[in-house]
Amino acid sequence: MYDVLFDTRFFVPAAAVLGAVVGSFLNVVIWRLPRGESVVHPGSHCTACGAQVRWYDNVPVLSYLVLMGRCRACGTHYSAEYPVVEAANAGLYALLAWRFGLAPALPVYMALTSALLAAAVIDLHHKILPDRITLPGIALGLVASATLLPPTVLEALAGAALGGGLYLLIAVASRGGMGGGDVKLIAMIGAFLGWQAVLLTTFLAAVVGASVGLVLMLAFGKGRKYAVPFGPFLAAAAIVCVLWGQPIIAWYLELGRP
Ligand SMILES: [Zn+2]
Repeated sequence: MYDVLFDTRFFVPAAAVLGAVVGSFLNVVIWRLPRGESVVHPGSHCTACGAQVRWYDNVPVLSYLVLMGRCRACGTHYSAEYPVVEAANAGLYALLAWRFGLAPALPVYMALTSALLAAAVIDLHHKILPDRITLPGIALGLVASATLLPPTVLEALAGAALGGGLYLLIAVASRGGMGGGDVKLIAMIGAFLGWQAVLLTTFLAAVVGASVGLVLMLAFGKGRKYAVPFGPFLAAAAIVCVLWGQPIIAWYLELGRP
């Protein structure tokens, strides 16, 4: 039994199933958190007709396919975003399990990745990054760094301070070009991953963000101002950092050596 548990062929698919179930909960968080509603009560219900979603209609991804994206009661079409979020979270959990194995850090990285995914989608919809995700995230990150994660407490504190401080400066200098939500999000990322990851996350997010901005400008005409939120880029870059930040940073530090 013990051996089976530690077999990649078992725990990577198991992580994917767990990821899909958590992804289903993330959809609830993404819908309710910005609306100030409770994320636990009431149970899942149709946002159009209010009908309760039965457990057999609440199977991640599969139910959406079986019902062809419609509410069983009223037939309202649901956004394809729901199964996409579930599938994305499932894929990310499988990647994390494959990368780290059954390590103590694995559940922490899963929680961080899901928080980043939910924050990114909320930012895309509402242009906000909820304090209810980032503030507990900062605290959890510092505690996790002191116990289960590679960064030392000092590196984690430095990460939160460096990220928060740097982005606060940018926010003030750009007069709202960067929001307070981004400041707290990077502080959270620093608390989990340390100060080096803050720099790598910022670099990756800026490169990808600028590229996407350039493509949008070329595609839709230059000069127009696009209010593309930075949060989703930060979140995606931080997930890359969770998965491969350590080897990338190690490789970069080697570059300077003769
Ligand atoms: Zn309905």
